[in-house]
Amino acid sequence: MTQLTFDVPLPNETNPKELAEDLSESQQKTSWYKGRVLSHSSIYLYKTCPQKWKFRYIDKVPEKPRSFFSFGKSVHAGLEYLFSGVKDGIPTIEELLANFRANWLRDGYESPQQEKWFFQEGERIIRGFYGKHKDELKKVFQVEFKFTVDIEGVPVMGYIDRIDSTPSGGLAILDYKTGKAFDRIRVRQEPQLTLYQMAVKKLLGKEVETVGLYHLNTLTAHVVPAHTAQQETDVVQGVLLAAKGINESKFDPKPEQGGQCQWCDYLQICPAFAGKKGTRAFEVPAPDSLAELADRLGRLDAKIQELLKSRDEVEKSILSRLSVKNEKEVEGKYFSVIHKPADEPNGKILFSQPREKKP
Ligand code: SF4
Repeated sequence: MTQLTFDVPLPNETNPKELAEDLSESQQKTSWYKGRVLSHSSIYLYKTCPQKWKFRYIDKVPEKPRSFFSFGKSVHAGLEYLFSGVKDGIPTIEELLANFRANWLRDGYESPQQEKWFFQEGERIIRGFYGKHKDELKKVFQVEFKFTVDIEGVPVMGYIDRIDSTPSGGLAILDYKTGKAFDRIRVRQEPQLTLYQMAVKKLLGKEVETVGLYHLNTLTAHVVPAHTAQQETDVVQGVLLAAKGINESKFDPKPEQGGQCQWCDYLQICPAFAGKKGTRAFEVPAPDSLAELADRLGRLDAKIQELLKSRDEVEKSILSRLSVKNEKEVEGKYFSVIHKPADEPNGKILFSQPREKKP
């Protein structure tokens, strides 16, 4: 669900056949590349910064979870659940929302408020998508179509969100995106769709009539005719250039590429910034610096305040109901709560304790 593009221009003079020959030669010299499968996103990453590619895929240095990844995956999983019922009967909106809530991914959100906002946005998208499209899902041919395709000797894999059958017997590719809005120009140029088109033609043996991106936040499909032969050639070049560089262990950092370094999780260990204090990118505080600890403490205090506020609201709600019933104690499934106005050390009136397990 991320927005990925090959925005690094490829050299026009490169011939795919020559590249393929170069690649097979270098594959003979080195063996570690063999068995490695590329994808649209890994090829894009290699073009953007080979060093970052190495950190992620070879050194496997973990990156921080990101809210937009969690959100995109959660909404994606919700739609997958909807499509899984296309053949045997689609779920009700209540079942769909229950599934979305049960599978909500919580990683990467900066605060409970931010997570709440995204969660509500996800529910809004699921409801809106269901209301708008539930009666048109019969044409769905494949969902989450996983493929591995051979491109001039380089295995490339991917997942296509949805493939529909067209009335004339062809296929229509649609990929779902969350995040910033986009237009048809992007869809006409998106190399991820060109790659999908090539894989579908090769593996399913049918013509691709249209390709499209569906912007979930606005419930809008942007669909264009199949990409051109020249775009397919460009994708082959992109795959071969990345594979050649990887195969030859070319992992130079690209610190100047679009100001990306200041958001890069590998900044602190990147050779491009070793000993270069004073550059803007290097001013990000070290994970264990005093400034970072101060920020962490501030965030924790903010969370505590927020939790105390929520607790206060729940306490008031319980107290008002207990007073109606004239009772001093209530038992939940896991906790019992006692009203002890005499012991108010921290302003608390209700005290909870775990319920004892029954033998
Ligand atoms: S800090 Fe910049 S140059 Fe270094 S790995 Fe990250 S993106 Fe690449």
